Amino acid sequence: MWPAVDAIKQQISLLEYLQNQSWKPARRISRGRLMGLCPLHLDHKPSFLVDPVQNLFYCYGCGRGGDLIRFVELYHDVSFGEAMALLRRSGRCGSLLPDVARFYQVQLHRHPEAAAYLQQRGIHQPQVIEEFAIGYAPGRCLRQWMIPLGYSLGELQQAGLVNADGLDTFSHRIVFPLQANLYGRAIGNAAPHRFLPGGKGGLYGWERVKHYPEVILVEGLFDLASLWQAGFRNATCSTGSHLNAHQLRQLCDRVPRTVYLAFDSDANSSGQQAAQRLSRRLLQQGATALRVQLPDGHDPNSFFVGGGDGQQFQQLLEKAMP
Ligand SMILES: [Zn+2]
Repeated sequence: MWPAVDAIKQQISLLEYLQNQSWKPARRISRGRLMGLCPLHLDHKPSFLVDPVQNLFYCYGCGRGGDLIRFVELYHDVSFGEAMALLRRSGRCGSLLPDVARFYQVQLHRHPEAAAYLQQRGIHQPQVIEEFAIGYAPGRCLRQWMIPLGYSLGELQQAGLVNADGLDTFSHRIVFPLQANLYGRAIGNAAPHRFLPGGKGGLYGWERVKHYPEVILVEGLFDLASLWQAGFRNATCSTGSHLNAHQLRQLCDRVPRTVYLAFDSDANSSGQQAAQRLSRRLLQQGATALRVQLPDGHDPNSFFVGGGDGQQFQQLLEKAMP
């Protein structure tokens, strides 16, 4: 029900939290469970039981028990939302965007229109959906989920997740979490691409890709997901055909590197022009740039959706020209 709650409980164990509050077990009982003085009431003989495996507590003295969040509520005498906020502030917990992304991930499987759209874009492997943490923003519900978790409406507005009227800004969109942003692709008639305010950041997944001497650069996240699905792990994405300075530096951080530019081969040839400009800049920086010629009117995503396979794409890579 509450992805952010699960995330917090995965990140902080009850026992760890208790120990950080200077709780010490007095003795160990069966199945790894621990007994100690109850931090919730004035206790003289150990009546507080902790089960580190189940992540649950129970006190035989005051009769109270539950999970980590319940403990924080009782210990600090705060509401559920305040307890969540306290746990997040304890530093090692998820922050707003990862929590929002996890919420959208859960929604993906609850909305048939989202699954249908992914099918239509040829994304069908569960591992790819998992790898890219693809989610779905149904719209009209984000604040109801996030505010009880301890986020304020102001925080959501500041991040650009809800507008001044408190309505979701990402609505009917497939969502890809980026390093410090979200990308939303409209599945309806709205403007196709949307980001939160703030920069788009570096190249997608660069930490994994940068070790390859040859990398494939694509414009869109659906292109990237299709390449992944076809087994190309050395691919990255600039989310748009214009690269920012950070992304350019990343591509040139290691020489020699060969960059295959697999940009859209669209009718107005803007993708190919962008590839040409980029190829010149990369050459100036000492990288080798090769332009991949996709069939007319195609991008890597539509190439695979239209029946192209990994072997055929490999042939295009081999035919790529400076
Ligand atoms: Zn107690």
